[in-house]
Amino acid sequence: GLSDKLQETFKRLKGKGKLKEADVNEAMREVRVALLEADVNFKVVKDFVAKVKERSIGLDVLESLSPAQQVIKIVHEEMITLMGGATGKILIASKPPTVIMLIGLQGAGKTTHAAKLANMLNKQGKHPLLVACDIYRPAAIKQLQVLGEQLKLPVFSMGQESPVEIAKASLKHANSNGQDVVIIDTAGRLHINEELMGELRDIKTAVKPHEILLVVDAMTGQDAVNVAESFHKELGLDGVILTKLDGDTRGGAALSIKAVTGCTIKFAGMGEKMDAIEPFHPDRMASRILGMGDVLTLIEKAQESFDEKKAKEMEQKLRKQEFTLDDFLDQMQQMKKMGPLSSILEMIPGVGKQLKDVQIDEKDTAHIEAIIRSMTTEERRKPALIKDSRKKRIAKGSGTSVQEVGSLLKRFEQMQKMMKQFASPGGMGMLGGGKK
Ligand code: GDP
Ligand code: MG
Repeated sequence: GLSDKLQETFKRLKGKGKLKEADVNEAMREVRVALLEADVNFKVVKDFVAKVKERSIGLDVLESLSPAQQVIKIVHEEMITLMGGATGKILIASKPPTVIMLIGLQGAGKTTHAAKLANMLNKQGKHPLLVACDIYRPAAIKQLQVLGEQLKLPVFSMGQESPVEIAKASLKHANSNGQDVVIIDTAGRLHINEELMGELRDIKTAVKPHEILLVVDAMTGQDAVNVAESFHKELGLDGVILTKLDGDTRGGAALSIKAVTGCTIKFAGMGEKMDAIEPFHPDRMASRILGMGDVLTLIEKAQESFDEKKAKEMEQKLRKQEFTLDDFLDQMQQMKKMGPLSSILEMIPGVGKQLKDVQIDEKDTAHIEAIIRSMTTEERRKPALIKDSRKKRIAKGSGTSVQEVGSLLKRFEQMQKMMKQFASPGGMGMLGGGKK
C-alpha cells in the first residue's frame, strides 16, 4: 500500500545529515510513484510533489527533527492542506426544517448514511425525518424503513409516487410533526446519466436543500473523484461523504477530491454500523495514509475511558522510564475498559509489527494479575531482582508456574523497551510534538 511505500522511502532518507537537493529529488520521485499507485489524480500529484520539494530543499534542519522526519512533516502538512477545510458540520437552517439531500451512485452508501446522519443529528438533539425517494426498487424503501425502526426515527415514504412529490410532501409532514431536519435519500444509478441528473435537479428545485451531500465510495479511487466532479458541475455540491474508509482503501479519493473539485469532504463512513460516521479529519487521514498510525484517534479513544490524570502520570513515567510492574497492572485494568488491547496498540505508529512479541491474550489477564499481586513492592519496581528462587515463590503464591512468571517478566521487559522507543524523539515524538 501507499503507506508501506512511503515508509520505505522515508527509511532511506533516515541517517542523512542534511536535506540536499539530490536526496529530496530522489525521495520525491518515489513519493510521486507511490501516490500515483495509490490512485491519486496525476495533476494533484504533480502539484503536491512540487510544493513539498520547494519547501524541503535548502531548509534549515531543525535540531529536534531528523531530515527524514522533517520531510515527513512537510508531506504530512501538505497532505492536510490538500484535504483541508472545515470538518464535518451540517449547516442548520435558521428556519426549520433543515433540508439535506443525499445523492450518489448506486451502492455508494446513500441509504446507510442517511440513517447514520439522522442518528448523529438526533444525538445532537435534533428531530430528523428520513425520506424515501429511491422509488425504483421496493427493497430500497424497505431498507430505509428498517434502519429507521432500528434507530427509532421516523421514515416518510409514499411508495412509488414521483420523487419530487414525495420530497415536497415530506417538508409539509416535517413541519406539522415538529421534525426540524429532513434527510432525503435519493435513487442512484450504476453510472451517471441524464435521467438521474434530471431527477435530482427536479428534487433540488422543488425543495431547495440547505445541504446537497454527495456520497462516494472511497474504494473506487479515481472514479470517485470523476463522479464528484460531474455531480458538482451538474448540481452544486455542499460537501462530500466519503464512505467505506474502514476498508482497504488506497487513499487516492481522499487526497484528490478536494483538490480536483473544490468540495470539502465533510464526513467519513467507517463501517456498516449506525454509529460508524465521523467528521472527516484531514490530519488523521494524512497520518493514516503515511502509516504513522492514527495517533489522534488513539488519544481520543484512550481519553474516553482513561482517567486523564492517570494518563498524565503514565506519560511522565514513560518519559522518565519509570514504568513498573505496578503501572503495568494498572494499565491493564484501564485497557480492559478500553476494549481489546491489540486494537489499541495497533494504532500506535510502528507497533503493528512488534505486536506479536508482546501480544497479551485477554484471557491471560487474570493470571498476570495474580502473578504481579504475588510480588513484593520492591520486586514490582525492580523486576531484575526476580531470579529463580523468587520466581518459584511467586509462582506458588499465584497458583501459576515458574514458566508463566518468566514469560510475563520477559514480555514486560519487551514492553518497556517498546515504550522507551515511543518516548524517544525518533518514536512517537514527531507527532506528539517531540522534544524541544
Ligand atoms: P446506496 O445504494 O447508495 O443507498 O448504498 P447503501 O446505503 O445501500 O450501501 C451499500 C452497501 O455498502 C451496504 O451493504 C452498506 O452496508 C455498505 N456500506 C455503506 N457505507 C459503508 C461504510 O462506510 N463502510 C462499509 N464497510 N460498508 C458500508
Ligand atoms: Mg439506497
